[in-house]
Amino acid sequence: MTEATRVLVLNAGSSSVKYQLIDMVDGERLAAGLVEKIGERTGRLVHTPHGAPSREAVQTFPDHSSALKAVAEELAEDGHGLDSPELAAVGHRVVHGGKRFTAPTVITEEVLTEIRRLVPVAPLHNPANITGIEVARSLRPDLPQVAVFDTAFHTTVPEHAARYAIDQKTADQHRVRRYGFHGTSHQYVSRATARLLGKDPAEVNVIVLHLGNGASASAVAGGVCVDTSMGLTPLEGLVMGTRSGDLDPGVIFHLHRVGGLSIDEIDDLLNRRSGLLGLCGDNDMREIIRRKEAGDQDAALAFDAYVHRLRKYLGGYYAVLGRVDAIAFTAGVGENAAPVRAAATAGLEELGIVVDPELNSVRSSSARFISPEHARVAVAVVPTDEELEIAQQAFALVREG
Ligand code: ADP
Repeated sequence: MTEATRVLVLNAGSSSVKYQLIDMVDGERLAAGLVEKIGERTGRLVHTPHGAPSREAVQTFPDHSSALKAVAEELAEDGHGLDSPELAAVGHRVVHGGKRFTAPTVITEEVLTEIRRLVPVAPLHNPANITGIEVARSLRPDLPQVAVFDTAFHTTVPEHAARYAIDQKTADQHRVRRYGFHGTSHQYVSRATARLLGKDPAEVNVIVLHLGNGASASAVAGGVCVDTSMGLTPLEGLVMGTRSGDLDPGVIFHLHRVGGLSIDEIDDLLNRRSGLLGLCGDNDMREIIRRKEAGDQDAALAFDAYVHRLRKYLGGYYAVLGRVDAIAFTAGVGENAAPVRAAATAGLEELGIVVDPELNSVRSSSARFISPEHARVAVAVVPTDEELEIAQQAFALVREG
């Protein structure tokens, strides 16, 4: 009998679907791809089979169902159709799992109902994730569908860190609390950092800095998340590509009452037109560093504001953890932007944090230290791999079952 060792990982966004087919025997990517601009006149599918050139299709994908069917056809063309007996599960990235989902979960009707109940706290993300689940299920009803939640790793954050200091009756009524996001990445990277140190995750305290277009920090004590920078929504915390991160909530009242902006306009401002983009007109850190080096003042301000916020979280989480064994930089900016890593850690020798400029300038796709040997706090660059983590969690769950 053919053994089912493969997991299809689906990450359905509001107008896109990203996917990877991973063989769990050796972690090999058999295929990866992306459908974008779903619902627009001209959509695009890019499918990359393992070891072969990408295939691109430009056509209309009216909805997620047509997009996923096209993905299934591409996979079938490489001999990896959804009907393959080698497929063990589909692993779905689900953004919001609320307080209830603390671990990966096989999707039943009841689970799907609960994910739907969370739509009001994740209106931009959960509906697309639900559609992805429904379509995948209709294409292969007998296959286990597993939800891996972005919030799950943060469900261990203690109440005093998760609660906002507001009237608790009101908070509970509307499920207002800090949930945190990027959990799959924080979990993967904190474990990979322990591995890099040659230690068990239970033995080490790690600060993880996930710096992508969205960005978040987490404090992980002995493998358990004890604080994270994103909150009820992914808007809180660090300065991001287009999100403001922390700000005085009074800014919102002011913009509404005095500035005359509607709530939707303020939502759009803070989520899509703020952060690095708002500060200097660019949200790509490469471009910001290039402009800063050419003497551009706006780009320098954006860079400095980004780094300043990062340092505040670094210091804050140092105090939360008490002892820090490692700091891990990950995601697009964290893995690639040496100047950000250098600036975020500069002048912190008293805390045992030192970055070696030569190690920091090495370009590599492997996990590596950038602190000198024997430094009190290991500083590392640890590439994240959310898809592999989702596949591993989904596979472990269906094998147990
Ligand atoms: P997300 O998954 O959140 O969309 P990524 O983790 O892919 O984002 O990170 C994207 C960001 O990484 C880009 O906006 C860009 O600013 C940054 N980035 C990628 N490569 C580099 C680089 N070489 N130097 C600086 N920043 C980079």
